[in-house]
Amino acid sequence: MKKQFKNQHRMLESFGYEFLVVCPNCNSKSKVISLGDHSPYGTGIIRRFLCLHCGMTKEFVPKNNCFNQSIISYGSKWNDGFINIGGTFDWYFGYPLYLQIPCCGQTLWAYNLEHLEHLKNYVQAELRENHPYYLSVESRLPLWIKSAKNRDVVLKAISKLEQKANQN
Ligand SMILES: [Zn+2]
Repeated sequence: MKKQFKNQHRMLESFGYEFLVVCPNCNSKSKVISLGDHSPYGTGIIRRFLCLHCGMTKEFVPKNNCFNQSIISYGSKWNDGFINIGGTFDWYFGYPLYLQIPCCGQTLWAYNLEHLEHLKNYVQAELRENHPYYLSVESRLPLWIKSAKNRDVVLKAISKLEQKANQN
């Protein structure tokens, strides 16, 4: 039987409760988390960077707009003080994602292990439902990840990232 991926209408935002990142101080695997609601739209929530290797911690200081709301930017460019969603970095500090790897001339990336697992299930599936919700993770995936001819290469890259994630 062919593996089937059922659309979960899962938003990229729903994986933003934890980012595995590269510590800017010691280059080890470290984390960015939210204390409280992990939605990027919440206000007054502490977003914290912490590295268990060197002990560095940092809190995000947002630049708010005139309505006292965080400013959210979508795209691959980093804007300091904004919440930046969609690039190969965490949303708050802009530290490079720990789970990223060159693949098919592009970069394959995930915020955390659950996100990686979600990508894997998607890529493994040979049958996919049509018309994913337009804002879901699936609909926003680039074509090179969705392409059947890249499936094996992409799955290999995902398994390398899994190994990397499980090293201390
Ligand atoms: Zn560190």
